[in-house]
Amino acid sequence: MAVPHLYRTEAIVLKRVDMGEADKILTLYTPTFGKLRAIAKGARRPTSKLGGHVDLFMCSRLQVARGRDLDIVTQSEIVHAYPRLREDLYRTTYAFHIAELLDNLTGERIENQTLYDLLLVTLERLDTEDSPEIAARAFEVQALGLLGYRPELHRCLRCGAEAQPVVNYFSAPAGGLLCPDCGGAGHVGVPLSVNALKVLRVLQAGDFQLARRLRLTPGLRAELESVLRAYLQFVLERRLRSVEFLNTLRREGVG
Ligand SMILES: [Zn+2]
Repeated sequence: MAVPHLYRTEAIVLKRVDMGEADKILTLYTPTFGKLRAIAKGARRPTSKLGGHVDLFMCSRLQVARGRDLDIVTQSEIVHAYPRLREDLYRTTYAFHIAELLDNLTGERIENQTLYDLLLVTLERLDTEDSPEIAARAFEVQALGLLGYRPELHRCLRCGAEAQPVVNYFSAPAGGLLCPDCGGAGHVGVPLSVNALKVLRVLQAGDFQLARRLRLTPGLRAELESVLRAYLQFVLERRLRSVEFLNTLRREGVG
Protein backbone atom coordinates (compact mmCIF):
# COMPACT_ATOMS: atom_id res chain seq x y z
CA MET A 1 0.00 0.00 0.00
CA ALA A 2 1.31 3.43 -0.92
CA VAL A 3 2.22 5.82 1.87
CA PRO A 4 -0.51 8.46 2.03
CA HIS A 5 0.55 11.88 0.88
CA LEU A 6 0.49 14.50 3.64
CA TYR A 7 -0.11 18.19 3.30
CA ARG A 8 -0.55 21.13 5.65
CA THR A 9 -3.10 23.88 5.41
CA GLU A 10 -4.77 26.55 7.45
CA ALA A 11 -8.54 25.97 7.41
CA ILE A 12 -11.82 27.34 8.70
CA VAL A 13 -14.53 24.86 9.63
CA LEU A 14 -17.75 25.70 7.76
CA LYS A 15 -19.72 22.60 8.64
CA ARG A 16 -19.47 19.43 10.71
CA VAL A 17 -21.52 16.30 10.11
CA ASP A 18 -21.40 13.12 12.22
CA MET A 19 -20.18 9.96 10.55
CA GLY A 20 -20.14 6.48 12.01
CA GLU A 21 -19.68 6.15 15.77
CA ALA A 22 -17.15 8.82 16.59
CA ASP A 23 -16.04 10.60 13.39
CA LYS A 24 -16.91 13.94 11.90
CA ILE A 25 -16.92 14.97 8.26
CA LEU A 26 -15.69 18.54 8.08
CA THR A 27 -16.37 21.04 5.33
CA LEU A 28 -13.34 23.30 5.38
CA TYR A 29 -12.43 26.51 3.61
CA THR A 30 -8.72 26.92 2.95
CA PRO A 31 -6.49 29.58 1.36
CA THR A 32 -4.92 27.35 -1.32
CA PHE A 33 -7.41 24.53 -1.93
CA GLY A 34 -10.63 26.50 -1.56
CA LYS A 35 -13.41 24.38 -0.11
CA LEU A 36 -12.63 20.79 0.80
CA ARG A 37 -14.13 18.00 2.84
CA ALA A 38 -12.11 15.87 5.24
CA ILE A 39 -12.70 13.33 8.00
CA ALA A 40 -11.72 14.03 11.61
CA LYS A 41 -11.50 10.51 12.99
CA GLY A 42 -12.63 10.05 16.59
CA ALA A 43 -13.47 13.76 16.84
CA ARG A 44 -16.62 13.06 18.86
CA ARG A 45 -14.84 11.14 21.61
CA PRO A 46 -14.57 13.28 24.76
CA THR A 47 -10.85 12.55 24.95
CA SER A 48 -10.17 13.58 21.34
CA LYS A 49 -7.70 16.44 21.07
CA LEU A 50 -8.58 16.81 17.43
CA GLY A 51 -12.27 17.39 18.19
CA GLY A 52 -11.72 20.60 20.11
CA HIS A 53 -9.46 21.99 17.41
CA VAL A 54 -11.91 21.56 14.58
CA ASP A 55 -14.98 23.15 16.12
CA LEU A 56 -17.34 25.16 13.93
CA PHE A 57 -15.95 28.49 12.63
CA MET A 58 -12.54 27.85 14.18
CA CYS A 59 -9.43 28.67 12.24
CA SER A 60 -6.86 25.88 12.64
CA ARG A 61 -3.61 24.74 11.15
CA LEU A 62 -4.12 21.18 9.94
CA GLN A 63 -2.08 18.30 8.69
CA VAL A 64 -4.11 16.26 6.26
CA ALA A 65 -3.51 12.87 4.62
CA ARG A 66 -4.89 12.24 1.17
CA GLY A 67 -7.51 9.51 1.32
CA ARG A 68 -9.16 7.52 -1.42
CA ASP A 69 -12.52 9.28 -1.11
CA LEU A 70 -12.10 11.90 1.57
CA ASP A 71 -8.90 13.30 3.01
CA ILE A 72 -8.18 12.67 6.69
CA VAL A 73 -7.17 15.27 9.27
CA THR A 74 -4.22 13.85 11.21
CA GLN A 75 -3.06 16.83 13.29
CA SER A 76 -4.53 20.16 14.30
CA GLU A 77 -3.60 23.33 16.09
CA ILE A 78 -5.90 26.28 16.79
CA VAL A 79 -4.96 29.60 15.15
CA HIS A 80 -8.07 31.65 16.07
CA ALA A 81 -10.89 30.36 18.28
CA TYR A 82 -13.22 33.41 18.12
CA PRO A 83 -14.68 32.79 21.61
CA ARG A 84 -17.37 35.51 21.58
CA LEU A 85 -18.68 34.37 18.23
CA ARG A 86 -19.15 30.92 19.74
CA GLU A 87 -20.71 32.01 23.06
CA ASP A 88 -23.09 34.73 21.87
CA LEU A 89 -26.03 33.16 20.05
CA TYR A 90 -26.73 36.35 18.07
CA ARG A 91 -23.18 36.29 16.71
CA THR A 92 -23.28 32.54 16.15
CA THR A 93 -26.38 32.94 13.97
CA TYR A 94 -24.49 35.29 11.63
CA ALA A 95 -21.52 32.92 11.53
CA PHE A 96 -23.87 30.07 10.49
CA HIS A 97 -25.30 32.33 7.82
CA ILE A 98 -21.98 33.27 6.21
CA ALA A 99 -20.62 29.69 6.48
CA GLU A 100 -23.71 28.33 4.75
CA LEU A 101 -23.53 30.99 2.05
CA LEU A 102 -19.89 30.23 1.35
CA ASP A 103 -20.57 26.50 1.27
CA ASN A 104 -23.42 26.95 -1.20
CA LEU A 105 -21.66 29.51 -3.39
CA THR A 106 -18.39 27.62 -3.91
CA GLY A 107 -17.32 24.36 -5.54
CA GLU A 108 -14.69 22.07 -4.05
CA ARG A 109 -10.99 22.68 -4.60
CA ILE A 110 -11.24 26.02 -6.38
CA GLU A 111 -8.61 28.33 -4.96
CA ASN A 112 -9.77 31.80 -3.94
CA GLN A 113 -7.30 33.34 -1.51
CA THR A 114 -9.17 36.68 -1.45
CA LEU A 115 -12.38 34.93 -0.47
CA TYR A 116 -10.51 33.09 2.29
CA ASP A 117 -9.14 36.41 3.57
CA LEU A 118 -12.66 37.85 3.48
CA LEU A 119 -13.97 34.91 5.51
CA LEU A 120 -11.18 35.33 8.06
CA VAL A 121 -11.72 39.07 8.50
CA THR A 122 -15.50 38.55 8.69
CA LEU A 123 -15.19 35.98 11.51
CA GLU A 124 -12.91 38.40 13.32
CA ARG A 125 -15.54 41.14 12.92
CA LEU A 126 -18.39 38.84 14.00
CA ASP A 127 -16.31 38.08 17.09
CA THR A 128 -15.39 41.63 18.04
CA GLU A 129 -17.58 44.28 16.36
CA ASP A 130 -20.50 45.89 18.17
CA SER A 131 -22.72 45.21 15.18
CA PRO A 132 -22.16 41.77 13.67
CA GLU A 133 -25.02 42.52 11.28
CA ILE A 134 -23.10 45.06 9.18
CA ALA A 135 -20.15 42.62 9.08
CA ALA A 136 -22.48 40.00 7.62
CA ARG A 137 -23.87 42.45 5.01
CA ALA A 138 -20.30 43.43 4.07
CA PHE A 139 -19.45 39.75 3.60
CA GLU A 140 -22.48 39.21 1.34
CA VAL A 141 -21.67 42.15 -0.94
CA GLN A 142 -17.95 41.39 -1.10
CA ALA A 143 -18.37 37.63 -1.60
CA LEU A 144 -20.85 38.20 -4.45
CA GLY A 145 -18.24 40.40 -6.13
CA LEU A 146 -15.44 37.88 -5.66
CA LEU A 147 -17.54 35.07 -7.14
CA GLY A 148 -18.46 36.97 -10.30
CA TYR A 149 -21.83 38.40 -9.23
CA ARG A 150 -20.79 41.96 -8.42
CA PRO A 151 -24.05 43.92 -8.32
CA GLU A 152 -24.15 47.04 -10.48
CA LEU A 153 -24.79 50.02 -8.18
CA HIS A 154 -23.92 53.05 -10.28
CA ARG A 155 -25.74 52.88 -13.62
CA CYS A 156 -29.08 51.60 -14.82
CA LEU A 157 -28.53 48.17 -16.32
CA ARG A 158 -31.19 48.73 -18.96
CA CYS A 159 -30.69 52.29 -20.28
CA GLY A 160 -27.22 53.04 -18.91
CA ALA A 161 -28.25 56.28 -17.17
CA GLU A 162 -26.20 57.25 -14.14
CA ALA A 163 -28.12 56.63 -10.90
CA GLN A 164 -29.81 59.72 -9.47
CA PRO A 165 -30.42 60.34 -5.74
CA VAL A 166 -34.05 59.17 -5.91
CA VAL A 167 -35.73 55.85 -5.21
CA ASN A 168 -34.26 53.47 -7.79
CA TYR A 169 -34.89 49.75 -8.28
CA PHE A 170 -32.87 46.61 -7.72
CA SER A 171 -33.35 43.68 -10.05
CA ALA A 172 -31.81 40.32 -9.14
CA PRO A 173 -32.13 38.85 -12.67
CA ALA A 174 -30.57 42.00 -14.18
CA GLY A 175 -27.79 41.94 -11.56
CA GLY A 176 -28.30 45.29 -9.90
CA LEU A 177 -29.65 48.77 -10.41
CA LEU A 178 -32.49 49.93 -12.63
CA CYS A 179 -33.52 53.60 -12.87
CA PRO A 180 -37.13 54.62 -11.98
CA ASP A 181 -38.11 54.64 -15.69
CA CYS A 182 -36.76 51.16 -16.38
CA GLY A 183 -37.42 49.46 -13.07
CA GLY A 184 -40.66 50.94 -11.83
CA ALA A 185 -43.33 50.56 -14.48
CA GLY A 186 -43.05 46.85 -15.26
CA HIS A 187 -42.28 45.97 -11.62
CA VAL A 188 -39.05 44.32 -12.74
CA GLY A 189 -37.19 45.45 -9.66
CA VAL A 190 -37.79 46.10 -5.96
CA PRO A 191 -37.57 49.73 -4.78
CA LEU A 192 -34.15 50.74 -3.47
CA SER A 193 -33.98 53.81 -1.25
CA VAL A 194 -31.27 56.46 -1.62
CA ASN A 195 -29.78 55.48 1.75
CA ALA A 196 -29.78 51.75 1.00
CA LEU A 197 -27.95 52.41 -2.28
CA LYS A 198 -25.38 54.54 -0.43
CA VAL A 199 -24.72 51.80 2.15
CA LEU A 200 -24.44 49.12 -0.56
CA ARG A 201 -21.87 51.26 -2.36
CA VAL A 202 -19.84 51.70 0.84
CA LEU A 203 -19.92 47.92 1.40
CA GLN A 204 -18.96 47.23 -2.21
CA ALA A 205 -16.04 49.66 -1.97
CA GLY A 206 -14.83 47.60 1.01
CA ASP A 207 -14.78 50.62 3.33
CA PHE A 208 -15.72 48.77 6.49
CA GLN A 209 -14.40 51.53 8.75
CA LEU A 210 -16.99 53.86 7.26
CA ALA A 211 -19.73 51.20 7.14
CA ARG A 212 -19.42 50.39 10.86
CA ARG A 213 -19.87 54.07 11.78
CA LEU A 214 -23.11 54.49 9.81
CA ARG A 215 -26.22 54.75 11.92
CA LEU A 216 -28.69 52.45 10.28
CA THR A 217 -32.36 52.67 11.21
CA PRO A 218 -34.22 49.37 11.67
CA GLY A 219 -36.07 50.10 8.42
CA LEU A 220 -32.86 50.58 6.48
CA ARG A 221 -31.31 47.44 7.98
CA ALA A 222 -34.38 45.45 6.98
CA GLU A 223 -34.25 46.88 3.46
CA LEU A 224 -30.58 45.98 3.02
CA GLU A 225 -31.17 42.48 4.32
CA SER A 226 -34.12 41.90 2.04
CA VAL A 227 -32.45 43.24 -1.15
CA LEU A 228 -29.34 41.15 -0.56
CA ARG A 229 -31.32 38.08 0.43
CA ALA A 230 -33.31 38.25 -2.81
CA TYR A 231 -30.16 38.65 -4.91
CA LEU A 232 -28.33 35.83 -3.07
CA GLN A 233 -31.33 33.55 -3.49
CA PHE A 234 -31.38 34.27 -7.22
CA VAL A 235 -27.62 33.58 -7.54
CA LEU A 236 -27.86 30.37 -5.49
CA GLU A 237 -30.76 29.04 -7.57
CA ARG A 238 -28.95 29.81 -10.81
CA ARG A 239 -25.82 28.10 -9.47
CA LEU A 240 -27.82 25.07 -8.42
CA ARG A 241 -29.41 24.82 -11.86
CA SER A 242 -26.03 25.00 -13.61
CA VAL A 243 -24.61 22.29 -11.30
CA GLU A 244 -27.62 20.08 -12.06
CA PHE A 245 -27.17 20.75 -15.77
CA LEU A 246 -23.49 19.74 -15.61
CA ASN A 247 -24.40 16.59 -13.69
CA THR A 248 -26.96 15.70 -16.36
CA LEU A 249 -24.35 16.18 -19.08
CA ARG A 250 -21.91 14.00 -17.15
CA ARG A 251 -24.52 11.26 -16.66
CA GLU A 252 -25.20 11.32 -20.36
CA GLY A 253 -21.51 11.10 -21.10
CA VAL A 254 -21.31 14.50 -22.79
CA GLY A 255 -19.21 16.39 -20.20
ZN1 LIG B 1 -32.92 53.08 -17.00
